[in-house]
Amino acid sequence: MKKIIVPASLAAVACLGQSAVSAAEKPNILIILADDLGYADLGFQGAKDIPTPNIDALAKSGTIFTDAHVSASVCSPSRAGLMTGIYQQRFGHEANCPPPDKGMDVKQKTLADYLKSLGYRTGVIGKWHLGDKDKFHPLKRGFDYFYGFREGGRPYFHNAKKIDKKGNPRAIEKNWEQVSFDGYLTDVFGEKAVEFLESSATAGKPFFLYLAFNAPHSPYQAKDEDLAFFAGKIKNKRRRVYAAMVYALDRAIGRVMKTLDAKKLRGNTLVFFLSDNGGPPRTGALNTPLNGSKGIDFEGGIRVPFIVSWPGHFPSGKKCAAVVSSLDIAPTCLSVAGSAPPKKLVGENLFEIVKNGKRDHSLFWRKLYFGAVRLGPWKLIEVDGYGYALYNLEKDLGESENLSKKMPEKLAQLKAIYERWRKTLVEPLWGEGGKWKRINVKRHINLIEGKPELDKIKY
Ligand code: CA
Repeated sequence: MKKIIVPASLAAVACLGQSAVSAAEKPNILIILADDLGYADLGFQGAKDIPTPNIDALAKSGTIFTDAHVSASVCSPSRAGLMTGIYQQRFGHEANCPPPDKGMDVKQKTLADYLKSLGYRTGVIGKWHLGDKDKFHPLKRGFDYFYGFREGGRPYFHNAKKIDKKGNPRAIEKNWEQVSFDGYLTDVFGEKAVEFLESSATAGKPFFLYLAFNAPHSPYQAKDEDLAFFAGKIKNKRRRVYAAMVYALDRAIGRVMKTLDAKKLRGNTLVFFLSDNGGPPRTGALNTPLNGSKGIDFEGGIRVPFIVSWPGHFPSGKKCAAVVSSLDIAPTCLSVAGSAPPKKLVGENLFEIVKNGKRDHSLFWRKLYFGAVRLGPWKLIEVDGYGYALYNLEKDLGESENLSKKMPEKLAQLKAIYERWRKTLVEPLWGEGGKWKRINVKRHINLIEGKPELDKIKY
């Protein structure tokens, strides 16, 4: 693998503490998050029917991690893990969609909190989904700037009569003020990101921008011109609309990257791109060649496209097969910003992982009634009331052959690791409606037993 070029000042930061890197040397940080994006729905991931030239160019400029994961298979807990760098179940953020009075534990520090204290200008644009109440608001969680909505989803066009009525947590806000917008929301988030980058270019301090698009999450709404682009090219209507949404996402990311280039910020900006979870079932998204989809702990729910790009500092045009996680983003950012990551952050520095070609620790998942652990090529899935499944992902990426009976010793080893980890978790602060337990448990059992994921499931 190509040698990683890390400036001496950055290579030494973990030992020297935050004073080792002056504000002028600290790189800017941009995290671009897609929402419910299918694993196979980008050009560099093999998509033939959805052109994504801008995201493909970003991939080419950096390292593509082929075995990358998020810490949850659904939106809100995945974002809680990304923002804190901690398994979100350790502070009760295990289920999706916090009820109106709940949100991400205010005692937890966010990546924005850490970076702000290191002199960064911090902004979040897009979907928050970490609590609706004012006390959970991004401006109280380390961000200087917020343009987006508090909830988990909303229409892509302004809707004055319903969603955009005063006080609706799905309405668009600029900082604390509810605002109107024109046009298609993915374009608007791209424009706001451009504005943030342009103003950062002369701000005299490094920036951290968390650009959390809600695309291509439901509702499935695209611009007429984007739909027209796919007319006759994609026959299936669901996939055609979904493709048009991904196409708009790619265009917005293109504008953002072009702005970094135009403002000569590209060489000093560490960029991450990933999705918050896998593509959902029956929406037109494809997770090929993975098994399963959003909401469950098969790879289709938790393995995501993942790019790290920082030309001149991170290997470019490379693929890395090491197991990585969204939890690795926070410690990586803190290290390059000149601060030794707090011990409670569970991830590993991606510079070290890419240099060594492997991670040191297991990865874990848990959502109310099911969970999983990953150790090297091995993966254990546990389903409450049913039992365990064991897979070797190196030989069986599609998780088709349950080896739990053939390999009892490996099963016992992973069970022990998983149970030790579970003891570090707290009770979930909220749960999910009754039907979801039935549906998501059944989806796991169907796949373990070799049946179609949605076999005999009534939503
Ligand atoms: Ca999502």
